[in-house]
Amino acid sequence: MAAAILAVGRPGALTSQTLQRFEGVEPHMGTLVRITVYTAGPAEARTAFRAAFDRIGDLDRILSDYEPDSELNAITRTAAGRPVRVSDDLFAVLQASQDLAAATGGAFDITQGPVVRLWREARRTGRRPDAAALAGAQRLTGFRKLHLDADERTVTLDLAGMALDVGAIGKGYAASAALAVLDGLGIRSALVAVSGDLAFSEAPPGARGWRIRLHEGEQGLETLPQVIELTRAAVSTSGPSEQYVEIDGRRYSHVIDPASATGLVDDLTVTVVAPHGLAADGLDTAISVLGVEKGLALLESRPDAAALIVQRTDGRATFTMSAGFRTLLARTQ
Ligand code: AMP
Ligand code: MG
Repeated sequence: MAAAILAVGRPGALTSQTLQRFEGVEPHMGTLVRITVYTAGPAEARTAFRAAFDRIGDLDRILSDYEPDSELNAITRTAAGRPVRVSDDLFAVLQASQDLAAATGGAFDITQGPVVRLWREARRTGRRPDAAALAGAQRLTGFRKLHLDADERTVTLDLAGMALDVGAIGKGYAASAALAVLDGLGIRSALVAVSGDLAFSEAPPGARGWRIRLHEGEQGLETLPQVIELTRAAVSTSGPSEQYVEIDGRRYSHVIDPASATGLVDDLTVTVVAPHGLAADGLDTAISVLGVEKGLALLESRPDAAALIVQRTDGRATFTMSAGFRTLLARTQ
């Protein structure tokens, strides 16, 4: 995507000549996962990669909506009308999703599965989903039809045929979960990138932080720094530039506005910085649906999160940032 985030650690310098940089790449969650670690040698790096990639593989088997036997898809078959107990990981993702759904009046909504599937088909065929099919799918959606019981750790769905899709929040959760595994192995400086969802720990040796690229010097973004330097955070980006369908000259994003059951047409790319990927990934999608004004208002209740919103109209970009993002940028300069 145009505002792809690249994470670039600077080469090791004076202080930590004993640490070397290693990078591993594996396909997981329908994308490539890249992990960078600073370790004493290749053996430590190999052990770290295996443990972190395995954690992401496990989460993929829990959270995937493509894989019929994932735990997520299993509950859509079994939890209609009766509570089903789920894993801690799945419960954490569902709980955060429902909290965000409530905070956004349903703009963020993981029960959009049936609608998301119709728009995915539209991306393949290039044709707008059939109106009757969309209306039918919409009847199976709504975050209030999904019930969680934190004490019992159970999930109940109101209707058979509902489908959950945690594609808007699962990759960020996985990035932070893999980073926690690396932390547990005593690795101080690491970065996990599940596509556009990043989680990273302390700065690479000799650097002030992980350098995150915000954009590629587009017209209209000249006054926005290209890079932000951060430590111990998660950064997620949501935008239509990679996944959209063009119908009759209009671009529809893979992110759905639940109010209209339609792919978003405003070209917004939202980058969120938060302490954990669960928050960053959820918020990037939520703000995309809410738009600039309501998106920034949502952040007022999340003082530990910050957002940059880039809007493209007729080939020209404009940007808006939250007060928190401005503070982070000022620290980089
Ligand atoms: P992201 O790239 O993080 O914005 O996530 C996009 C994905 O979230 C889509 O591909 C869908 O699987 C899912 N999704 C689409 N619309 C919504 C929505 N309104 N709320 C929650 N998830 C959504
Ligand atoms: Mg997201």
